Amino acid sequence: MSQPTGSGESAHGLADGNTIPMLGLGVWQVENERECVDAVRWALEAGYRHIDTAQAYGNEESVGMGIRESGVPREEIFVTTKFFPRRRDPVVELEGSLGRLGLEFVDLYIVHWPAGGPTWAWPGMERTRELDYARSIGVSNFAVGEIDDLLQEAQQPPVVNQVLFNPFAYRKRLFEACAANDIVLEAYSPLGTGRHLDDPAVAQIADAHGRTPAQVLLRWGIQHGVPQIPKSTHQPRIVENAQVFDFELSEEDMQTLDELDQTGGTDCAREDKWW
Ligand code: NDP
Repeated sequence: MSQPTGSGESAHGLADGNTIPMLGLGVWQVENERECVDAVRWALEAGYRHIDTAQAYGNEESVGMGIRESGVPREEIFVTTKFFPRRRDPVVELEGSLGRLGLEFVDLYIVHWPAGGPTWAWPGMERTRELDYARSIGVSNFAVGEIDDLLQEAQQPPVVNQVLFNPFAYRKRLFEACAANDIVLEAYSPLGTGRHLDDPAVAQIADAHGRTPAQVLLRWGIQHGVPQIPKSTHQPRIVENAQVFDFELSEEDMQTLDELDQTGGTDCAREDKWW
């Protein structure tokens, strides 16, 4: 992986004292087989030190195998999994994840979405940290109101909110509320699940910098201080997506990209909820 342009740009501090690498590999919709094992291994070989999986993805075994095949020491890798909120007990479910991953702990355990309300799962999430099953705990797909409700009850506040975030979904009010509460907003679908790679405005900026649209979208998030977890199962793209620390978008580029937002700067996490 290319060197970060500024000190500290490759990782973000969390409110609990841990740090999260700014770039990770996402593995949603990657089969629990060689495809996933290889993607994880290629990413670690390319310098990624952060992998994002979930109980719902059904591929934790392959993530664990990819980590072991890479030979990269466990302590150098930041592993996230997510509590599947149609189940009841975050502790029991994380014990299952650790068995499938072949790990003693995950670095980040997050509630995948606020099914049945934002607070009921949290005592179990806090317990996973006390048991040293998870180094950090957080949430995903939480809107501002849901974060406020959770903060009222939490003994240990969430340190991450993983949400759909990219120039076309620049949720400014959610982003600012997370920052005000010391919660790091982490971007999922930073490429819009591939949909934003053909956008003409993105392509124009990419051409001007001699970069690819994927690199521009990821760089936009990094310059906003938002960790990025692009998914690819193709080795050249995995490598390409890591080359985002050796160029800089101008203020004008950033503004052009900011203005692509289609959410009206919302404080919501999703326009279309599946729960
Ligand atoms: P991304 O926004 O990362 O886009 C991935 C798509 O873009 C794939 O089709 C991939 O194809 C393609 N792609 C990747 N890199 C390139 C490139 N350099 N050039 C051209 N095409 C490229 O999609 P996701 O929606 O998967 O989001 C990323 C991760 O975020 C997920 O994998 C998951 O870990 C997380 N996530 C979390 C959610 C949550 O509810 N918490 C919800 C959704 C995602 P190919 O693989 O064929 O290369």
